[in-house]
Amino acid sequence: MLVSQRIRAIKPSPTLAINAKAVSMRQAGVDVISFGVGEPDFDTPKHIRDEAVRAMEEGFTRYTAVSGIPELKDAIIEKFRRDNNLSYERDEVMVSCGGKHVLYNLAQALLNPGDEVVIPAPYWVSYPPVVTLAGADPVIVGTVEADDFKLSTESLETAITPRTKLLILNSPSNPTGSVYTESELEALAEVILKYDIWVVSDEMYEKLIFDDRPFCSIAQVSEEVKSKTFVVNGLSKTYAMTGWRIGYAAGAREIIAGMTKIQSQSTSNPNSIAQKAAVAALNGPQDSIQAMLRAFDQRRIYLLQRLNAITGVRCNLPGGAFYAFPNFSYYFNAKTEGTTIKNSTDLCEYLLTEARVALVPGIAFGDDNFVRFSYATDLETIKEGLDRIEGALGKLV
Ligand SMILES: *Cc1c(COP(=O)(O)O)cnc(C)c1O
Repeated sequence: MLVSQRIRAIKPSPTLAINAKAVSMRQAGVDVISFGVGEPDFDTPKHIRDEAVRAMEEGFTRYTAVSGIPELKDAIIEKFRRDNNLSYERDEVMVSCGGKHVLYNLAQALLNPGDEVVIPAPYWVSYPPVVTLAGADPVIVGTVEADDFKLSTESLETAITPRTKLLILNSPSNPTGSVYTESELEALAEVILKYDIWVVSDEMYEKLIFDDRPFCSIAQVSEEVKSKTFVVNGLSKTYAMTGWRIGYAAGAREIIAGMTKIQSQSTSNPNSIAQKAAVAALNGPQDSIQAMLRAFDQRRIYLLQRLNAITGVRCNLPGGAFYAFPNFSYYFNAKTEGTTIKNSTDLCEYLLTEARVALVPGIAFGDDNFVRFSYATDLETIKEGLDRIEGALGKLV
């Protein structure tokens, strides 16, 4: 076998794979509706793009400090102070090539072979492979719809062993959209301190929360909890900047230094121009976020009403992000032209061929009873997609 064991132990990102399949069907002339994408369908706001042009024109096109330019670190520190009432020093924050890269660096800097990492399911697709690539073992802990997919203190405590090093939390969640409340985080924090484990708080969707609900970071619970927390955030979702590749981390300086070391030996600094644009995004006007949130909210309400009207389907109202995670298990064992739909993968394949609608099977997120809808697409398309899905489901026996 030519490829390394390390590479054989992981699979490519299933969400990116679905999207690639939808794109290639489209190129072949099939009009596919995609609910697969995990990125906002909005343009990066103009003042952010302008700053990038300016940086380029001014020759800001060389290597920068590996862990990010001081100006951007200061903008990140100010963001934490302003939005989360958290204070960090420059050597406690770093900038990487997207939030995914932050998580990768963090796993490399924190984990040893044999360490266990508790990951509540449904989880974001990249958590388990990032842990595996660091030689550590993902420990998947299931959650249930009735608890809005939130990790209970009991299941956390049951999952912890002497090898447990880290817990990964994600709120608002991709794929479920669920949002932890302050008191839920306080309860989890107690367990974290009791067993002296670390926690990663993936706050990528911090700004995309509906119904004026407040956002709370577990790092805000107490200074003690903050000292055990790595906050992971980035610009991709909040400012519609997925292609720019800017993410950041805040936490213990020893680990930030370790992450900087691995970044120095792999990618070096994140893109210089994107860093300048990120300063403008964090320090500039924030009204683009509200406009985006209003559009997402309208789609969320429409999508939820349509989903819950489909026979056998039920879906919790997502509190944040731009995904819905309905239960479609009612259709398992249904038959189509002699073959049986057995799981979320079969169902998504059926809907892609029969309805020309791309969805991500729940198994990709660790729960096979569900499928993920991204509503980062306009209302008309959502309506047409739902019509098609209803039509195709109606043909099943
Ligand atoms: C999109 C996403 C990320 C990372 O995005 P980047 O584009 O790499 O910054 C991290 N976590 C979750 C849950 C996400 O959905």
